[in-house]
Amino acid sequence: MSLGVEIVPYIPAPEGILAHAPEGTITDYVDTAESKGKFAPDPLISEGSDGKPVFAEMAFRASGRSREQARLFYEQGLKETRLVNARRWHEVQCQHLSGEISKAEAIMVGLETVRKQNALCRALEREERCPAPNPFLLESLDSRIRALRPDVEAVLELAATASERELALVEVLKQIRKQDRKARGWKLKAQRQVACGLFGKQYDAEKCGRVYFRHFRCHNRYCPVCGPYVHQKLVAKYLGLEKPIAEFLAGHPSYRLHILDITAIKRGERMPSPEDVRKFKVDVKKLIERVNRHVAEKFGLPYSKQLTGYLYCLEFGFDNNNLHCHGVLLSPYIEQEWLSQRWREIRNDGSLRVLIAEAYSFDAAIKHALEYTGKYAAPDAERAFELELAFAGCRRVDGLGWFFNRLPKEDIEADLRCPCGDSECFLKPNRELGWQPLSYFEERGISDLDEVRERGSPSRQKDGGSWVN
Ligand SMILES: [Zn+2]
Ligand SMILES: [Zn+2]
Repeated sequence: MSLGVEIVPYIPAPEGILAHAPEGTITDYVDTAESKGKFAPDPLISEGSDGKPVFAEMAFRASGRSREQARLFYEQGLKETRLVNARRWHEVQCQHLSGEISKAEAIMVGLETVRKQNALCRALEREERCPAPNPFLLESLDSRIRALRPDVEAVLELAATASERELALVEVLKQIRKQDRKARGWKLKAQRQVACGLFGKQYDAEKCGRVYFRHFRCHNRYCPVCGPYVHQKLVAKYLGLEKPIAEFLAGHPSYRLHILDITAIKRGERMPSPEDVRKFKVDVKKLIERVNRHVAEKFGLPYSKQLTGYLYCLEFGFDNNNLHCHGVLLSPYIEQEWLSQRWREIRNDGSLRVLIAEAYSFDAAIKHALEYTGKYAAPDAERAFELELAFAGCRRVDGLGWFFNRLPKEDIEADLRCPCGDSECFLKPNRELGWQPLSYFEERGISDLDEVRERGSPSRQKDGGSWVN
C-alpha cells in the first residue's frame, strides 16, 4: 500500500519545556494517553534576551486573541521561574555546601522511586484481591517492583545517614520542585494556546488505507476555540447520566433532582485567589456533608456520602468577581432556610445566599449547572488570564456523593473508528510523522477527520480524491 505522502521523520522538540512536560499536560482530544509530551508541536514561544516572550514566525498564524492569551500565560511562567530561581539561590545555594545539596537532591529523587514502588505494591495487592487476578499483570507488576528494589534500598540507606539539615533541605527542594512545575505548567499552557489549531496529526486507517488528520487542540479552559468545544463535550457527557438518574429516582420516591446554587459574599474588588477558591470548594463539601447527615437523621439511615449527590460548576460573575457555583442536587426535599443557615455557619463571613428549587427536567438541570462554563467563558485575553489564575490547579466542575466518578469511561474505540464504515477498520496516529503544520495536510489533500465525521459517511468524497490512497 502506498500512502502517497512523504514520510518525514519526526524530530523531537529541543530539550526544554515541552520535552519535560509533566504527564498529561499536553492533551489532544483523541489520545491523551499517548500524547504525554512526546507528540507536542515544537515550542512557538521562548524567552527573549530582554526577558520578554518572543514568538516564532509560525505563531503569527494564530489569532491575535490566542497570541495575547499565550503571552500572558508565558509571562506568568517567566515570573514564577524567576521566583523559583531566587528561592533556589537564597535557600539552597547560599546556605548549603555542594555536598549537602547533591545528597539532598539524590534523596528527593530517590523518594519519588519509593512512591512509585508503593503505588505498584498497592496495584499488586488490588489485583491479588480480585476474584480472578490477571496472571500477566501480576507478573509484570512484580517484576517492576523487583526492578525498583535496589534503588529503593539505596535511597533508604542514604536517608538513614542524612543529617537533620540535609533532611530539612530535602523538604525545601521538594517545595521548589513543585513551584517549578507550576511555572513550567504556565509556559506549557502558553505553548499549547498559541499552537492551538495550527498543527495536525495524521491518522492512518489500518484496513482501507485512508489518511486523515486531526487538529492539535490546546484544551485550555478559556481558549476561544477549545473552550466552547470542551463545554459541549462536558454537557454531552453529563447528559448521558439521564438513565441512571431516572433509575435512581424510580427506586427512591422521596428524592428529586434540584437546582442548587451557592454564593460566597464578595470581599472588596480583588479577584479571589486560588486559595479562596479551594476554601470555597472545601466549604461546599462541608455543606453537602451536613445535608447527608440531615437526610440520615430524617430517614433514620446510617450516614453515608452517597445519601445525596451534588454536581456543580464554579463560576465568577460575568463582569465581577463574585465567586459562586451552579449545581444539581439529587436529594429529598431540603428547606432553603435550613441550607442557608448551615452555609452561614460554615462560611462564617456573612455569606448566606443559597438557592434551591426543584428542577423542571433533567436536561434543564444539567444545562443550568454547566451553562456558564461555556457560555460566558471570557470576553478577552486579560479576563481569561485572570480566571485561569484564580482556578489554577483546581477542577471547576466537580461531582460529590452519588455524582462522584459516575461518568461512563470514554469510548476510545469508537473515537478511533475509521469513518469508512467498516467496523473493523481503526485509525492509528502516525507517530513517525508527529505534528505537522496544517499546510502539510492541505498540500497533500488530506481531510480533517472531525469535518468528515460531521458530514457523515465519506462515500460522497470517493470520487473527489480527497484522501490519499
Ligand atoms: Zn477505513
Ligand atoms: Zn484551544
